Amino acid sequence: MKKSLKLYILILLAVSCAITTTVLTPENASVVERNGHLRIEGTHIVSQNSDPVVLYGVSLFWSQYVGNYYNYDCIKWLRNDWHCTVVRAALGIGRIGYLATPDVEMEKIKTVVEACIDLGIYVIVDWHDHQAEEHQAEAIDFFTQIATLYGDKPNVIYEIYNEPLRVSWTDVVKPYSEAVISAIRKIDPDNLILVGSPHWSQDVDVASLNPIEGKNIAYTLHFYAGTHKEWLMDKATTAINNGMALFVSEFGMCNSDGNGPIDHESSEKWFAYMKQHNLSWCKWSVADKQETSAVLKPGASATGHWSESELSESGKLIRAKIREMNP
Ligand code: MG
Repeated sequence: MKKSLKLYILILLAVSCAITTTVLTPENASVVERNGHLRIEGTHIVSQNSDPVVLYGVSLFWSQYVGNYYNYDCIKWLRNDWHCTVVRAALGIGRIGYLATPDVEMEKIKTVVEACIDLGIYVIVDWHDHQAEEHQAEAIDFFTQIATLYGDKPNVIYEIYNEPLRVSWTDVVKPYSEAVISAIRKIDPDNLILVGSPHWSQDVDVASLNPIEGKNIAYTLHFYAGTHKEWLMDKATTAINNGMALFVSEFGMCNSDGNGPIDHESSEKWFAYMKQHNLSWCKWSVADKQETSAVLKPGASATGHWSESELSESGKLIRAKIREMNP
């Protein structure tokens, strides 16, 4: 009797060890299980164990205009087939959009955030606005809700201002950012916060001379390879040299209007630049719009499972690139 009990316990131990080993093997663990809560250390993103982390993925399009890709199956496909470790949900602000129908747009963002949590990838919650300083109260209310719902989850990254226009960093974007960050930090003390800068999130050099106090803050760098060349890399290098952590939360391989031909030469330079500086990136955008930057052809399925013929030229290129970076 005693012998068989011992044997039973031994078998039980062996089985539970086997299960634990299976669950915790690094190959099986999701990117979020492996890296946990991200932090900023110097100019780099690091895991909870202080290992360097670089994320590669895509941005969804303005939620109010192309909202049909804000669903679980699409995100699952982007993880499984495209190997995305991050997806950016672009909450469209404006008279058409979150300001007019907050519940409708909030539902889309929650769907994507919850999908990313379930699937174990990171998600950027982006206040996709060009005049956020005019909507500060709404932004504070929105991010307060997001931080309350998801601030304890390692998956969530806040992007509080997509692209300011021709406004002052010191007088406009910085005070707005400090107000929104302060609201988030009352609830969520630690998740990454991404901050925009004037001129479509290109003036990172300007911001780096007068940065925001606080931890786990990075600055977005946006570029379109057909329009933005070495001069923008120089601005980014200045910011990095001044100690700033950058995150390319949006970029394209064509012109800044989302159209024109793919600039292969400039895109390659940018990919090399981002690799050299360990910059995380999200390609704009998951949409079936008739434009170069859209990764899908018009009418492509809303739930993933895209065939080669449903991908645009930039879609085929970026899918291959993400699979190369996240093998
Ligand atoms: Mg947190």
